[in-house]
Amino acid sequence: MPTNTTHLAAGVRSGNIRSLAKAITLIESRNPDHGAKATELLDSLLPHTGNSIRVGISGVPGVGKSTFIEALGMNLIGRGRKVAILAVDPSSQLSGGSILGDKTRMEELAREHNAFIRPSPAGDTLGGVARKTREAMLLCEAAGFDVIIVETVGVGQSEITVASMVDFFLLLQITGAGDELQGIKKGVMEIADAIIINKAEGDNRPRAELARKQYQNALHLLKPKSRNWIVPVLLCSALKHQGITETWQTVLEFVDTMREHGEFEQKRRLQASDWMWAQVMDELKSLFMTDKKVAPLIDPLQTAVSTGTTTPGAAAQRLLEAFKRH
Ligand code: GDP
Repeated sequence: MPTNTTHLAAGVRSGNIRSLAKAITLIESRNPDHGAKATELLDSLLPHTGNSIRVGISGVPGVGKSTFIEALGMNLIGRGRKVAILAVDPSSQLSGGSILGDKTRMEELAREHNAFIRPSPAGDTLGGVARKTREAMLLCEAAGFDVIIVETVGVGQSEITVASMVDFFLLLQITGAGDELQGIKKGVMEIADAIIINKAEGDNRPRAELARKQYQNALHLLKPKSRNWIVPVLLCSALKHQGITETWQTVLEFVDTMREHGEFEQKRRLQASDWMWAQVMDELKSLFMTDKKVAPLIDPLQTAVSTGTTTPGAAAQRLLEAFKRH
């Protein structure tokens, strides 16, 4: 690990991929000595971040995320863009490896000079994984990547978390057995800026058209996130590279519309302050749980609450009192 963050920052700024990879390894490190250096590095690069379009992509396994990202990525590189692909996979710890953002899943893109693919960082919590990914995103921006794609498989709250770090959140779907809305996780449709129905080619096209209508009807019932944007439902075939250009046009149109109404910057500002608080809360929680006075009380009080010998309110008060006694 380089000790000189100034040197590393210069490498990142010059777009050197090895420096970028090293910088991400530094921010992902669990070694406490690296923490201060990572902060220093991020602080020095911060003025050079923010100049990208940040796109989140989610969908269940098999929906075609990697095929889609590869097609979109190649399309963007053809337009002179530099594309970074990051992943948030909180299950990587359990499965012993990341299933997302894996290079072998996007072979063509991985060979491209203007693409950078980084698998999900390992982590015990979604918050931890997401924070590292968000910081990696800033580093990619400082290195000159102007489209950042953050992929997630949708375990637990991961879609909501990814949506909170991107400008545009895209939900990838496929047609099911008829009732399309059955398969959609509650709360996920509310955060989508577009829904794309993949594998909409050949015999599957009419079913995809039907599914589009169902989604459109369901979207009508939701309160829009922005009064300046109607969430579109698009069809595509990632395999046949159909509908990819249209998808990107939609992203650009969204960004233009949001900028025009001042919503683009406002959303980023809000996201930044939300992230600050999320970090404070995470840290406070861990201080609380590991506190010398609190820790021994947790198990007995939890048992007392679950067996009904004390009330949740009284137990919470005792824990908080123990914490405040410093
Ligand atoms: P992921 O798990 O969401 O990343 O999905 P993959 O990209 O690995 O795709 C899962 C399978 O669906 C693979 O066999 C792909 O070739 C296939 N697939 C992806 N996109 C399409 C598409 O547009 N049409 C068809 N017919 N198959 C597709």
